[in-house]
Amino acid sequence: MPASSAARPAVPTTLPDGVTIEPIDAFKDNYIWCIRAGGNAVVVDPGEAAPVLAALRAGGLRLTGILLTHHHADHVGGVAGLVHALGPVPVYGPADDRVTEATVRVRDGDRVVLEGLCDGGLAFEVLEVPGHTTSHVAFHGNGLLFSGDTLFSVGCGRMFEGTPPQMSASLDRLAALPPETLVFCGHEYTAANIAFARAVEPGNGAIGEWASEVEARRMSGRPSLPSTLRTERATNPFLRCAEPAVAGAAAAHAGRALSGPVEVFAELRAWKNVF
Ligand code: ZN
Ligand code: FE
Repeated sequence: MPASSAARPAVPTTLPDGVTIEPIDAFKDNYIWCIRAGGNAVVVDPGEAAPVLAALRAGGLRLTGILLTHHHADHVGGVAGLVHALGPVPVYGPADDRVTEATVRVRDGDRVVLEGLCDGGLAFEVLEVPGHTTSHVAFHGNGLLFSGDTLFSVGCGRMFEGTPPQMSASLDRLAALPPETLVFCGHEYTAANIAFARAVEPGNGAIGEWASEVEARRMSGRPSLPSTLRTERATNPFLRCAEPAVAGAAAAHAGRALSGPVEVFAELRAWKNVF
């Protein structure tokens, strides 16, 4: 449950023994992340019910909770079907009336404890990260980050509702988490994002290294994810707006001088929209 108490223990940074994270494919390129341990499972952003029900059945798993990052249908559309088929479970989602599926509304700094996955529950801290939508949240804890459609590997979500200052502040906040944090995002967009990053920063060797790893994972039928925040800081142009090479490329594309990292971010986001 979200905590309101001032004195709460720190969220652990390593995953307890026996807890694993597995992808469930949905739609064309969505991932529904399944956090499982023993016979229990929690899913993140179930846009569809059918693939989750199939995965639970195949794994002999009981659904014990749902995390939602934002109100878009490809992230929440399966909740009703899951609850209908399996009975009610706690559904943690942003404090936004559009997230009608949420049974527990979470805000920045809240602590969500997922029961049934380990002794004492698996705890995550809620981070409000507006930009893709105004009420988007991310869940961080145990060395994991569920970033929804805010941070993608080598990219970021479109700003459907937020502003460049909001979105870049949200990304900066995520990037400031420990570098070894594993990043689980909502879509398989990595290869296309790498193509854009190479156009922005052709001299960045870290992009090529990550591209090789991503290609190997995809060739063997696996997701490109998780990434790490270390990799994202080294490769993701949207986290590198203060780098001279990135700022220079954005200014060249804009055809004018840009006044700082937020303007660089805005230009990169606009460029990526038409790339
Ligand atoms: Zn979305
Ligand atoms: Fe999405």
